[in-house]
Amino acid sequence: MAHDFDLIVIGGGSGGLAGAFRAAEYGARVALLEPDALGGTCVNAGCVPKKAMWLAAELAGRLRQAGTLGFATTGGALDWPAFIAHRQRYVENIHASYRRRLDGAGITVLPVRGQFVAPDCVEGDDGVRISAPHILIATGGRPFVPPLPGAELGGTSDDFFRWTQPPERVAVVGGGYIAVELAGVLQMLGCRVDLLVRGPRLLDHFDVELATQLAEDYRHLGIQLHFDTQVQALEQAKGGVRTVTSPALDRAVFDRVLFATGRRPNAAGLGLEQAGLQVNARGQIPVDAGHRTVVPGVYAVGDVTPDIALTPVAIATARRLMDRVFGAREVPPLALDLVPTVVFSHPPLGTIGLTEAQARAQFGDDVHVARAGFRPMLHALADSPLRSLFKLVCVGAERRVVGLHLLGEGADEILQGFAVAIRKGVTLDDLRDTVAIHPTSAEEIVLMR
Ligand code: FAD
Ligand code: NDP
Repeated sequence: MAHDFDLIVIGGGSGGLAGAFRAAEYGARVALLEPDALGGTCVNAGCVPKKAMWLAAELAGRLRQAGTLGFATTGGALDWPAFIAHRQRYVENIHASYRRRLDGAGITVLPVRGQFVAPDCVEGDDGVRISAPHILIATGGRPFVPPLPGAELGGTSDDFFRWTQPPERVAVVGGGYIAVELAGVLQMLGCRVDLLVRGPRLLDHFDVELATQLAEDYRHLGIQLHFDTQVQALEQAKGGVRTVTSPALDRAVFDRVLFATGRRPNAAGLGLEQAGLQVNARGQIPVDAGHRTVVPGVYAVGDVTPDIALTPVAIATARRLMDRVFGAREVPPLALDLVPTVVFSHPPLGTIGLTEAQARAQFGDDVHVARAGFRPMLHALADSPLRSLFKLVCVGAERRVVGLHLLGEGADEILQGFAVAIRKGVTLDDLRDTVAIHPTSAEEIVLMR
């Protein structure tokens, strides 16, 4: 049967766009289905607007520090509507750039929600059907809100990005990436933040020493941290929303409550059964290392799969997939054990590879850990108590670096280059043989023993 297109991409976010562009480079006729704004979560309700808010929060911190150091400043209060106008202009420029590139690549963009009617045929919510021998599912995910009494009184990160004014008092529920990032941004921008974490620590997939230091830094910033605290319900109260928790909190009424309690894949409503596909126990679409599903010609990338939920992972896997499908190139699967990632906290926390605990579980006593705890110069000058902690995890007689964990100013920018070195098998001696750049925070990495 003749197909309308060579490839249909369902979802115009990080993975979908990357796959569509790469396939079109090989001359494929591509249709991309996206009912909402181009760019998906990352551009519209994730990385990009989040980083804008983080930059604003960092500036607020800098302005306060500048005041301490003798500059005449007004304290760093932010005019939210003015800043959000800048943020939105930036996001709209990304939309326009995508639109130009899609037109230039000859990709057909259909502003519809798609669902399978057969393994090679998708129907839009306008009732129009299109077919292709290759279909890529890249429908991402959405915030998960625990089904608690009164949960509808709370919001999620999606709501946060719709705020035009800051709340005075906020409770953030969760201890993962989004909870830590939003709590930091809001506190730095002058809100009073309580962070309600059901477990005993922040960021439980990250190195425990760095997570502990970050908690300490957050306390110095004024964030009220409540560990081992389970939210049981939200209730409307005079002047805000009351959190009912176990154990009970002193400060329990907030202007806003934000759930940052994980995300769920967008797999429902895709008509997967018509394609012969099933989701796993976590609602994700299972794929092999090459991102093929069990149905020939149907693929999936990004947050709808079990992959690490990061934009560069969705992009890299989509491109590699299209190199294989349309470029007929033998491309190895992406190495998912050495993916660098940064939590945009204050200060930021960057990590790649094994934590100390993971390395000890895998290599026993054959693990060497080097660490450097210090106060960055600007914080020392301003007499701020915030501390940085850098940690190298090495294994074997040659002390090959298998993990690098950075909490501190500049960690977000420093990590990328070291990620390359670690992928190439750098050892502690290689680092120590490298001349330091003085005075910087990054030099600590080549000075550690
Ligand atoms: P998405 O980008 O979510 O795109 C999916 C698209 O599919 C959406 O546009 C949706 O409208 C569309 N869609 C859904 N169903 C259908 C359908 N039936 N038909 C057609 N289209 C459909 N990652 C980082 O690497 N760095 C960060 O700093 C970072 N910060 C983040 C901050 C927040 C608050 C959040 C929520 C996420 C953040 N992430 C970050 C994660 C990152 O945004 C995701 O990993 C990434 O967007 C996943 O890309 P994706 O293509 O799988 O899905
Ligand atoms: P995470 O998985 O990072 O964190 C979820 C948090 O919610 C955990 O602390 C979890 O606790 C807690 N939680 C889950 N269910 C409940 C519940 N019922 N009650 C109370 N707490 C609960 O998810 P996020 O939503 O923060 O982020 C999703 C993903 O998006 C991240 O994993 C990351 O891949 C990506 N992301 C990346 C960013 C970046 O690159 N900078 C920024 C933001 C998101 P517990 O640990 O006990 O289960």
